[in-house]
Amino acid sequence: MAEKVDVLVVGSGPAGSTAAMYAAKAGADVMMVERRSAVGSPVRCGEYMPSNGEIVKMFPNLTDEDSLFDIPKNLVCRETLGIKLVDPKDKVTLLDMPGYTIDRDIFDSYLADRAVEEGARLVTGCSFDRIDGGVAKTSQGDISYKVIIGADGPGSRVARSLGLSRNHNPYPAVTAQVKGDFEPYLYMFFGDIAPGAYSWIIPKDGRANVGVGCSPRFSEGLVTDYFGRFAEKRGFAEHSRVQGKYVPSEGPIPRTVSGDGILVGDSAGQVISVNGGGIPLAMIAGRIGGNVAAAKAAGKGSLEDYEVQWRRIMEKPLKTAAFNKKLADSLAFRSERSTAVCMSVLGKRRLNKLIRCQSIFP
Ligand SMILES: Cc1cc2nc3c(=O)[nH]c(=O)nc-3n(C[C@H](O)[C@H](O)[C@H](O)COP(=O)(O)OP(=O)(O)OC[C@H]3O[C@@H](n4cnc5c(N)ncnc54)[C@H](O)[C@@H]3O)c2cc1C
Repeated sequence: MAEKVDVLVVGSGPAGSTAAMYAAKAGADVMMVERRSAVGSPVRCGEYMPSNGEIVKMFPNLTDEDSLFDIPKNLVCRETLGIKLVDPKDKVTLLDMPGYTIDRDIFDSYLADRAVEEGARLVTGCSFDRIDGGVAKTSQGDISYKVIIGADGPGSRVARSLGLSRNHNPYPAVTAQVKGDFEPYLYMFFGDIAPGAYSWIIPKDGRANVGVGCSPRFSEGLVTDYFGRFAEKRGFAEHSRVQGKYVPSEGPIPRTVSGDGILVGDSAGQVISVNGGGIPLAMIAGRIGGNVAAAKAAGKGSLEDYEVQWRRIMEKPLKTAAFNKKLADSLAFRSERSTAVCMSVLGKRRLNKLIRCQSIFP
C-alpha cells in the first residue's frame, strides 16, 4: 500500500522546505523527503545572502519580502557591506551591496523545522527514484500524491520523471571554510584563477567561506585543482574538507509545470547566471509553489498559476542575467586580458547593474 499525501516535496533545501512550509500552512497534508541523513549537511554553498532591500532591487515585482526572509538574528554569522570585484590585475571595484552570511546547515535546518512546525512530515535518508503510474518510488517505499514538488537541485530526478528539461551546462563549484579575520566584504576574483566564473572569499564570524566556480568551457583540469591553486595563492593552508556541486548557469528552464508536478529552485534553473546566487530565488519560488500546490490539492486553481506567478517576479531579471553571462562568455572570459579590459570598460556603474540582474545597456 502506498502512503497517501496531498503534496509530496522532494528535497529539503531552501526551495523544498519553503514550499513544504507554505503548503502545510495552507492546510495541505505535506511530506518532504530528503536523501541526505541530515538536512543541509554537508554544506555546499558560499552562504551569502543579499539584504531584503537588495533582493527587491533585483526583483521589483516581489512583494511581502519581509515575511519570506524573516531570518532570526542568531542565524546571521556576519553582516557584509558590499562586494569587491578583483580583476586579473588586482584592480578592485567596490560595489555597495549590504548582505549577510549564514551557516547553510543551520539555515536549512531552521527552514525545515519551520515546515515541520506547520505540520509537514520530514523523512530524511529517503531518496526519490522515479514516478511510476502516478506514484513516487522512493528508497523507503511508494508515495501517492495529488501534487509533487521537485526541489531536488540541479540534476533533478523529478524533472526527468515529469518529462521536463534539466539544466543545460551547469558548472561545478567547490567550497571550504577557513579560520581568520576578514573584512566585511565579499571578494570575487576573476581571471585564470577561476576561468569563466570566479573564486571568492565570503566573511563569516572569525572564519570565511572560500571557494571556486569555473566553467568547463574555459577551464583545463578539475575545479578542485583550481581550488588548490586559489588556496595556495591566498595562503589558506588549513581549510575544512572541500565540498561541491553543480550550479545552473543558463537561467530558468522553459517549462516548470507538467501534469501533477512543478519544479522549484535549482531544479528549475532559478539561479542568477552572473553570480550563481540561488537561495533567495529558491525561497521565492518555494513560497509560490507551496501555496499553489496546496490550492490545487484542495481542488482549487491550477498548477499553471505557479508558472505564471514565479515568472512575473523572476523571469525578466533571470533572463537578463543569463544574457549578460553569455556576453561575458563571448567577450570577457576569453583571456585574462579580455577580462580586465571588459571590467574596466564596464566600470562601476555597469558592474553594479550586472550584479543586480539589470541590463548593462545603455
Ligand atoms: C559552491 C556553491 C556556492 C554557492 N553559493 C551561494 C551563495 O553564496 N548564495 C546563494 O544565494 N546561492 C549560492 N549557491 C547556490 C545555492 O546553493 C542554490 O541555488 C540553492 O541551494 C538552491 O536551493 P534548492 O533548495 O533549490 O536546492 P538544494 O539546496 O540543492 O537542495 C536540494 C536538496 O534535494 C536533495 N535531493 C536531491 N536529489 C534527491 C532525491 N533524489 N531524493 C531526495 N532528495 C534529493 C538534496 O540532498 C538537497 O538537500 C551556491 C552553490 C554552490 C554549488
